[in-house]
Amino acid sequence: MTTHRDAMEAPAELVRCPMMPTYGPPSVEFVRGEGSWLWDLQGTKYLDLLSGLAVTSLGHAHPEVADAVAAQAQTLLHVSNLFGTEHQAPVAGTLDRLLGGGGQVFFCNSGAEANEAAIKLARKWAGAPAGKYQVVSALGSFHGRTLATLHATGQPAKHEPFQPLPEGFRHVPWADVDALDAALDGTVAAVLLEAVQGEGGVNPATAEYFAAVRQLCTERDVLFMVDEVQTGLGRCGSWFAHQQLGVRPDVVTMAKALGNGVPIGACWADASVAAAFEPGDHATTYGGQPLATAAARAVLAVMEREDVPARAVAAGARFRAGLEVLPAVTGVRGLGLLLAVELSPEFLALRPSKVVADALLEEGVVVNAVTPTALRLAPSLLITDDEVDEGVSRIAAVLEALAPHAAPGSDQETT
Ligand SMILES: *Cc1c(COP(=O)(O)O)cnc(C)c1O
Repeated sequence: MTTHRDAMEAPAELVRCPMMPTYGPPSVEFVRGEGSWLWDLQGTKYLDLLSGLAVTSLGHAHPEVADAVAAQAQTLLHVSNLFGTEHQAPVAGTLDRLLGGGGQVFFCNSGAEANEAAIKLARKWAGAPAGKYQVVSALGSFHGRTLATLHATGQPAKHEPFQPLPEGFRHVPWADVDALDAALDGTVAAVLLEAVQGEGGVNPATAEYFAAVRQLCTERDVLFMVDEVQTGLGRCGSWFAHQQLGVRPDVVTMAKALGNGVPIGACWADASVAAAFEPGDHATTYGGQPLATAAARAVLAVMEREDVPARAVAAGARFRAGLEVLPAVTGVRGLGLLLAVELSPEFLALRPSKVVADALLEEGVVVNAVTPTALRLAPSLLITDDEVDEGVSRIAAVLEALAPHAAPGSDQETT
């Protein structure tokens, strides 16, 4: 375990670095992007199959988004939420329509903030001071890094160094309806789940699970809140991933793809729930400010015109077909263009997924090792067929180069 004292004895060159050591030293510095491609300081070109963790869903430097941001920067950047601005209502209206209508939106700046808004809304709606305030989430989930969303995140190891965390969070095993049933007592205000656990390894919920959660929440008068920060806005092959699971949640949070790289988050709630908030209950200085909402407005216009959910379905199927047949791969899971490529035990005995991700980066492909056994792909939703094929062949080549004898059932050498 790293102690305060160890940190104080960090090498002098690290101490001189002006950045806090929260992210580890970067291996590459990117200076430019266009569509599915990135260029580093040396001018080397990379195929980006990660999109800044499902953020640049329209690719890098999308011309319409770039023009909207540039025009807005020359018009009006910020006035605060004491006043109205041009793009908030259209963006909120589009999001509400894509979510089926009948809701209202609160704008913020990140995924964690969208979940913070949802948690506060649930408490206000349920009557937290009278004892109904708990939020139940799933083990293996990820909901953010602020103190409250860290506690909602179902990864106890991440909680430990920051105890005590804010009270009011419970965790149940993922996809376990009986455990949820047992957890939903009279102190619970809301259930918060991802439709596909992203950071947890790209694990999609089933329609049966979400239907059972919806029914339990309705019976117990508990809000069903779906965290679509990673899965929302076309990524999974529908506007929101829960729409493939046949439920209408009470609250939906989103962020990553909404600004295509410009920070913006949003918390949508059914109007009957949103009505619990009164002026003064919640706010953020930058939330919904003109630059961010101009970007989101352009993003949504392009997404609708290009029908990005349909593109995610088609490109996702093409990736799967290409990757599933590789000897080092045991399976590809996920929805649309949020995919995890599970490596075979034979391959992993030789190389963990992190080594593969590092080798791919050296070969000019950006992915990440979402678990010790799987690679995550979250490419641009506008990726072309040629780029998918290029990605598959580069991944195939790197897997083959790293462990040429790792095909299941082959007489592999273990030395
Ligand atoms: C990334 C993510 C968050 C946190 O978003 P930030 O913008 O980093 O605060 C929350 N929930 C899910 C599902 C995410 O993938």
